[in-house]
Amino acid sequence: MLVAEGKSILKRIGIGRIKIYRTPAYDISEEEIRDPAAEVERFNDAVQKAIEQQGVLYEKALESAGEESAAIFEAHQMMLEDDDLQDTAREIITDQKKSAEYATQTAFDQYAQMFAELEDPYMQARSADLIDVKMAVLDVLLGNDTESLQGTEPSILVAEDLAPSETVKLDKSLLLGLITREGSAGSHTAILARSMNLPSLIQCKDIDDSWDGRMAILDGYNDRVIIDPTEEELAELTARREEDLKKDALLQDLKGRPSVTLDGRKVRVYANIGGPEDLAGVKENDAEGIGLFRSEFVYLHSKEAPSEEVQFAAYKRVVEAMAPRTVIIRTCDIGADKTIDYMHLDKEANPALGFRAIRICLTRKDFFKTQLRALLRASAYGSMGIMFPMIVSRWEIVEARKILEECKAELLQEGHKVGKYELGIMVETPAAVLCADDLAEEVDFFSLGTNDLTQYTCAIDRQNANLERFSDTHHPAVLKAIQMTVEAGHRHGIWVGICGELGADPSLTETFLRMGVDELSVNAGSVLPLRKIIRGLDLSGQAEK
Ligand code: PEP
Ligand code: MG
Repeated sequence: MLVAEGKSILKRIGIGRIKIYRTPAYDISEEEIRDPAAEVERFNDAVQKAIEQQGVLYEKALESAGEESAAIFEAHQMMLEDDDLQDTAREIITDQKKSAEYATQTAFDQYAQMFAELEDPYMQARSADLIDVKMAVLDVLLGNDTESLQGTEPSILVAEDLAPSETVKLDKSLLLGLITREGSAGSHTAILARSMNLPSLIQCKDIDDSWDGRMAILDGYNDRVIIDPTEEELAELTARREEDLKKDALLQDLKGRPSVTLDGRKVRVYANIGGPEDLAGVKENDAEGIGLFRSEFVYLHSKEAPSEEVQFAAYKRVVEAMAPRTVIIRTCDIGADKTIDYMHLDKEANPALGFRAIRICLTRKDFFKTQLRALLRASAYGSMGIMFPMIVSRWEIVEARKILEECKAELLQEGHKVGKYELGIMVETPAAVLCADDLAEEVDFFSLGTNDLTQYTCAIDRQNANLERFSDTHHPAVLKAIQMTVEAGHRHGIWVGICGELGADPSLTETFLRMGVDELSVNAGSVLPLRKIIRGLDLSGQAEK
């Protein structure tokens, strides 16, 4: 038995075997190989496996995103089955005596280039699909596919660190827990883990490769992982986990009930999501709406900038599924820790203060317009809000709204339907708090992004695990900033919510309600626990000191 400590980000228990995850690498050798026949066989097997995997992806996408989005995986299967393409790769192996990886890269790139040079825009776009399928074959050859990285059985995944772009690619159905050596509580990977209700331990410095395949208990209550637990420990923590499940079951009674205090104060409890795949959790936990759809995860899931159609399908699916409940979609908040290769963003010394979010959108207008058009089209299918992130100045809202109106005029001209929508901003910079009275004149709502607001107010990098001693999520300056924003919003007759992680902190629910917060948007697993707290509060008397 071995115990390693870390920092738990969820009071949950995970029990299962450890699977060591390594970050995918793409080193492709150009050296001559000795056995071309064996290499051809490796190539054939990898293509076959990639075809099967596309079939699995098709089924999953069909279930979570519908036929239109799933069709791409059928097209990928057909590309992989193409004899000419396969023969070109096999010839590179046999004639040039190159590895299967090298042959895959060269042959698929050649075909992608051919497509890119065609006149027809539809055929040109197929070039990106060829790159996708090339990556699928390379992933199998290099052991970077889900089966190699996560295994086939559910497990507790152990990694050095995980970027949001890696986390979104994990097969959630195979995750019993997550342990990382690095990571901070405010990082998007931690946020994702919370939204999956996944027992997780970060900053676990003693991680060791020898843990692979061993039985473990991730004990989120005591910030530790026990490797090779004794029978007694297994029995004790299994019982504890069952208690948690029973508590979850009791909360089910609150489904369909309003989130209202004993003295009649109603507050909306919404959920945060990253895409249509999270809808099931939202429904299961009876969220009253979606207060933050982090649309950048639609971009992170994709190997190229998602087209208007792909985005429209994702937004429409969520808006339609939730109707008549409200869905607030935040425009692309890329940058800082959420990096995307195809955006070709420069490396920056201070990415959290850099070219990100609305700054990218206002600079790359065509990129922004693609999203705004998709959002406006989706607005016809339910009750929607559009929200701009990282606002610092009033002119940013004015300019973004002008582009939005330009898109709306174009869409109507083209005969598309556009529905009604609310327009809001994330208040997540001290500048936005201090200018909240001004900004409120431009929008219908404010949503407080307390993750970034804490980072910028306290000057503490939310990604830096070494600063946690100095980081205080309840810092009086942050609470004051929230209060100021609520007051400014209400002075101007607009509603104010919280969509940062602090909104789910049960020790602050009463404080937020007393401040007048109108909406709390939290990870789906926190909706019912918060409803329970709210229903037990009586705000008619003085606040307890
Ligand atoms: C926030 O900053 O609080 C927020 C909700 O946005 P994100 O965590 O995605 O930056
Ligand atoms: Mg933010």
